[in-house]
Amino acid sequence: MKQSLLDFTLKELTNIVKPSFRAKQIYGWIYHQYADNYEDMKNIPKNLKDELSKKFLINPMKIVNKEISNDGTIKYLFELQDGKTIETVWLKMKDTQYDKNGEIIQEAKYTICVSTQVGCKVGCAFCLTAKGGFTRDLTAGEIVGQVVALKKDNNHKHNRMINIVYMGMGEPLDNLENLAKAIEIFKEDEGLCISGKRQTVSTSGLSNKIDRLGEMDLGVHIAISLHAVDDELRSELIPMNKAHNINSIIEAVKRFPIDTRKRVMFEYLVIKGKNDDLGSAKKLVKLLHGIKAKVNLIYFNPYPGTNYDRPSKEDMIAFQEYLVKHGLLCTIRDSKGIDISAACGQLKEKNV
Ligand code: SF4
Repeated sequence: MKQSLLDFTLKELTNIVKPSFRAKQIYGWIYHQYADNYEDMKNIPKNLKDELSKKFLINPMKIVNKEISNDGTIKYLFELQDGKTIETVWLKMKDTQYDKNGEIIQEAKYTICVSTQVGCKVGCAFCLTAKGGFTRDLTAGEIVGQVVALKKDNNHKHNRMINIVYMGMGEPLDNLENLAKAIEIFKEDEGLCISGKRQTVSTSGLSNKIDRLGEMDLGVHIAISLHAVDDELRSELIPMNKAHNINSIIEAVKRFPIDTRKRVMFEYLVIKGKNDDLGSAKKLVKLLHGIKAKVNLIYFNPYPGTNYDRPSKEDMIAFQEYLVKHGLLCTIRDSKGIDISAACGQLKEKNV
């Protein structure tokens, strides 16, 4: 596989492209103009472009399919250089706000749900991605390329704010090196300038890697897919829990450098008859004691072949009310893109 220009921080590109101002210009073409071929780079000398094109692709990600949901969610299928496929989701979080004269007072807000691996090793029982097993890690350029391609496809200017959640296919912390590189590339001032505060790493709970990510001090948020309050159920849902149990995750979270204005997000996938009772809610309150936490309750979305069911709205609300009454921030996530299977745990490779 050819390397791509999206694999490099500006400093690295400066070591490849001389003189250094040319590296900055190329960065501008890629991240501000979304150029995806060398011909577009008008002010770059032809001999330099010829030399680079022999060694490097620009964006290695090719959009091969797009599904648009009624709520504005767009699910993209990308083909990679080796023919493997992954999915990425464009989520509209807030509509554009207008004043009474029809002038825009606030533009719509978007989040991109990015994949970090082809398939996944973790094997969560409720997850479609897991059904296809693990194929390989994505490179930093393939992670970065998803965001560049989606911004371009949606005419989203480089300097418009976007949030990134590493919550697509794969366990991001299982591909920590490439993930960290992609985070740095996103943060580049001469590139997309997406601060760590706007990037959330969502993990199924590799406690040792949570520590490692914390030591890297990238300024990102973390979200933990907790889903259960006792190890027995959690190991049934997330087999890897046997190696990284609930206590080890909670202790790692307590050590993680968290921006004092922010909270750690705990995702809790609510499954009817499994973890939707008030006894579980009570245990959750106890478990998160002392952590500045926010709990995001997610309805389980049944898919063909699953043994699990969606909880009732009443049980969901009772669960939420219990947490709020006991001092936790708690939201119920409205699952976006249900009609196109773009919700959590529903992303997959093309033929899985
Ligand atoms: S839910 Fe996430 S961590 Fe679990 S198997 Fe699916 S992709 Fe992997």
